[in-house]
Amino acid sequence: MAEKRDYYEVLGVDKSASADEIKKAYRKKAIQFHPDKNPDDKEAEEKFKEAAEAYEVLSDEQKRAQYDRYGHNIPGGFGGFSSSHGDIDLEDIFSQFGDIFGGHFGGFGGFGGFSGFGGGGRQRVNRGSDIKVRVKLNLKEIANGADKKIKVKKDVACTHCNGTGADEGTAFTTCSTCKGAGAVTRVVNTMLGQMQTQTTCPTCNGEGKTITKKCTYCGGEGVNKEDDVIELKIPAGVAQGMQLSVSGKGNAAHHGGVNGDLILVIEEEKHPELFRDQNDLIYNLLLSFPTAAMGGSAEIPTIEGKVKVKIEPGTQPGKIMRLKGKGLPSLQGRDMGDLVVNVSIYVPENLTDAEKSTLTGMENSPSFQPSKSIKEKIFRHFRRMFD
Ligand SMILES: [Zn+2]
Ligand SMILES: [Zn+2]
Repeated sequence: MAEKRDYYEVLGVDKSASADEIKKAYRKKAIQFHPDKNPDDKEAEEKFKEAAEAYEVLSDEQKRAQYDRYGHNIPGGFGGFSSSHGDIDLEDIFSQFGDIFGGHFGGFGGFGGFSGFGGGGRQRVNRGSDIKVRVKLNLKEIANGADKKIKVKKDVACTHCNGTGADEGTAFTTCSTCKGAGAVTRVVNTMLGQMQTQTTCPTCNGEGKTITKKCTYCGGEGVNKEDDVIELKIPAGVAQGMQLSVSGKGNAAHHGGVNGDLILVIEEEKHPELFRDQNDLIYNLLLSFPTAAMGGSAEIPTIEGKVKVKIEPGTQPGKIMRLKGKGLPSLQGRDMGDLVVNVSIYVPENLTDAEKSTLTGMENSPSFQPSKSIKEKIFRHFRRMFD
């Protein structure tokens, strides 16, 4: 064996280095020569051990003092690691890492994994996947709630093997890899020492058992694709894009377990005349000029059919009328929205000569001039749209 190098030289520090400098220097060497980073590199492994030995001595005040005095020829040796490289156990080095890396140097996010997952031996419970379906509803269905039947193609547990995938539901054997635990524990050497990790058993996918003869009906999957008709009760007050989940109505899990969910994505059918603002419905009423001026009545479409409303003489464009409770219910059913009617006025586009002369006669009539208060009222309404 080559002559032992000076410990200070090994770590690349001065004889006067502080404890902190020694620690930092060792950390650098440990990372540089770590076996994980240098697989099958004997020289790196030797350097790794050499650095560990140097640190073992120089990090201990007493040992360092003795080393400073006697060098490598210390009577009786240092204890702890042997003073010969060859005998150092890598595990001993790793065990010292908690002190070097733990707490003193931040940024090592992986520490949580050190203790493994605890418990152990848990078998995974399979869960089938969710199925998403779009459900189209019109405003009336949204207002009242709806019963719908939908057909879904989905994984259904195989009745021949009881969803197990094994012939007759019994052709199993305990997984030899994990002995039925469903998980395997591995010890891996990492930059930060040894870590115990528990992973799903790759042989049985965490099921703890393996099928010895596959069910011929489902090919060992435990599920078959089938059409299922599902009856849905959709509550009143749902809205576009809302998702409702129906527990357990999704795909069955392969090899037994719990079903996924059926997720309903609500789509609102457009109404030809009404549109929705939360729980309110909005309608734009286009009044004729004479009706707006002289008053009368107008028909308003609602979800339940048309209703007649009274139009006051002198109704201005932009007037808002509220039909209380003629909107949509909230999902909880406590509040009822309104039907909000926005009044606009149709101005004739093509006039006959006779109509033109009639209107010309009215043009300068004082009743055709807006008062200051009506001007202000219309302006206030107009300005509110920009608030
Ligand atoms: Zn297994
Ligand atoms: Zn089957």
